[in-house]
Amino acid sequence: MSTQHADLVLVNGAIYTVDATRRWAQAVAVRNGRIRAVGTDDDVRELAGSSTEVVDLEGRMLLPGFQDAHVHPPAGGLEMLRCNLSDAYSKDEYLRIISEYATSHPDDEWILGGGWSMDTFPGGAPTKELLDAVVPDRPVFLPSRDGHSGWANSRALERAGITSHTPDPRDGRIERAADGSPAGTLHEGAMNPVEDIRSPTTQEDWAEGLRVAQRYLHSLGITAWQDAIVGGHYPTFETYVRLADHDELTARVVGALWWDRYRGAEQIPELVALRDRARSGRFAATSIKIMQDGIVENFTAGTLQPYLDAHGDPTDNAGMSFVDPEALKEYVTRLDGEGFQVHFHALGDRAVREALDAIEAARAANGMNDARHHLAHIQIVHPDDVPRFRALGAVANAQPLWAMNEGQMVHLTLPFIGRERGAWQYPFASLYRAGAALAFGSDWSVSTPDPLAEMHVAVNRTAPSTYAFLEENDPAVSEPFLPDQRLDLATAIAAFTIGSAYVNHLDAVAGSIEPGKDADLVVLDRNLFEHPATEIAEAKALLTLVGGRRVHAVTPFA
Ligand SMILES: [Zn+2]
Repeated sequence: MSTQHADLVLVNGAIYTVDATRRWAQAVAVRNGRIRAVGTDDDVRELAGSSTEVVDLEGRMLLPGFQDAHVHPPAGGLEMLRCNLSDAYSKDEYLRIISEYATSHPDDEWILGGGWSMDTFPGGAPTKELLDAVVPDRPVFLPSRDGHSGWANSRALERAGITSHTPDPRDGRIERAADGSPAGTLHEGAMNPVEDIRSPTTQEDWAEGLRVAQRYLHSLGITAWQDAIVGGHYPTFETYVRLADHDELTARVVGALWWDRYRGAEQIPELVALRDRARSGRFAATSIKIMQDGIVENFTAGTLQPYLDAHGDPTDNAGMSFVDPEALKEYVTRLDGEGFQVHFHALGDRAVREALDAIEAARAANGMNDARHHLAHIQIVHPDDVPRFRALGAVANAQPLWAMNEGQMVHLTLPFIGRERGAWQYPFASLYRAGAALAFGSDWSVSTPDPLAEMHVAVNRTAPSTYAFLEENDPAVSEPFLPDQRLDLATAIAAFTIGSAYVNHLDAVAGSIEPGKDADLVVLDRNLFEHPATEIAEAKALLTLVGGRRVHAVTPFA
């Protein structure tokens, strides 16, 4: 009876199921987009009929599709389409790219894009004069790789009305020349006056950015993600709804709706209404993104003890708490009560503690539930807070690529937080040993979205060999960063599959290869377990399926 036959069987593979027993299998059968059987070649061939497509994996590794637990695809895609600095790594290269982009886009009213790295400029702060020299006639505004600082030329600062008389906002800082005039770098909320007046990004721009990003992420084996900012400066709620409605969204996406930190609990009904509007297709908006602090490199991450100055002496700056910690408890309790998940941005040890305290308050008020609140970034975690993740059911949402010795760490972080706190960074193995649920994400376009590069660093705590350019700038790059915090490969794979599926509330339908789940799958060019850990980043995704449908395929599967 052909109606019983599989549509697709994948045979002769090294299939790592990431099920509860971490079982291996040879073959998978797919029918109507779902996994029908997992077993030996013989088990599965029984389900093949004359119309069944048979794919011979030739021993290659098949995994559950990767899920990125914290990523910004529409912005990443837009950056790929605009003045994209993210593949370069020096001042001169940046200026060459900007100049060429300006020449080839004479009609752009603003030069937009971004992706520069702070450690390529003294003090992490490029000047307006550098940009004025290559683009004197039009405004230029380029956010840094991490999006926490922006580089503006004189035209952009003038248009935004930022002068020597403009005070620093409560949630940001204007880099200034000796005479008090704006120097060209704006941090955090100080970017808002420029963001507010730059030429607007249209819904068509966002849609094109999302399409480009989706293709790129599928090519890396990613089948689902949590978009870490939907709203605020990224008005992409409509973009996702539109693509989902038109069946253009092939990935499964959870959107984390932006919490406006300039407002309070009165915004909650609006967030509920948005969630209700995104109930169909592959897009759900069930999470709320709360930015609790900034980043260490510009001293806006909230720390328990003040930052040090260049001489190692304490300053009076302990970073920022974007939301008052007491108000945060109230908001998180209310959101938790509404059935939302809260997705915190928390880098500094004080921000991590404030987020955990807020979850604790919600648990005290509402009891335990299945919200799966998570803390992203978790750069500095005070040892006292490590066991609290498990106790509170808070997921550790790690961006493992950052846990290596590169310029931002060596020059812009360690000298300013000191030895003790320096050793509390990215404590993934400590969190795991303490029983925390672990999810992985990239934070692209901050960092590469390639899960294999991310897992490479999680396992080795050194840069992939493709990052050899870092070593030219810094010999420390080859030293493992806090090697006691390395994870084994199986744990890293689980974090990028079932762990992130858990955060996305998709673990019942994806995240592992089991009968009844959707056929969200990725084929790699090699079995990662049979190659040295130092080569993880060299592996490539050859075939990506979502619900059994091909969304990426290269030789020999194209
Ligand atoms: Zn992010």
